[in-house]
Amino acid sequence: MKKKCLICNAEAEYRIKDTSDYYCADCAEENFADLSLLLKVEEEAKKLKVFVDEKIGEEDVSED
Ligand SMILES: [Zn+2]
Repeated sequence: MKKKCLICNAEAEYRIKDTSDYYCADCAEENFADLSLLLKVEEEAKKLKVFVDEKIGEEDVSED
């Protein structure tokens, strides 16, 4: 599911750390001088997938 920018409703590319506020690249740059406060939605999705894969691996090991 694609997230939408809070301001203009475009497809969001960034999320503010520790919140569920999403912004597109344009609005993120306009509203935040420091983009390091923002997480890239794409990268976060990758991390989430890795986390899920690891979790499955752990469960397999603990079966022993
Ligand atoms: Zn926007």
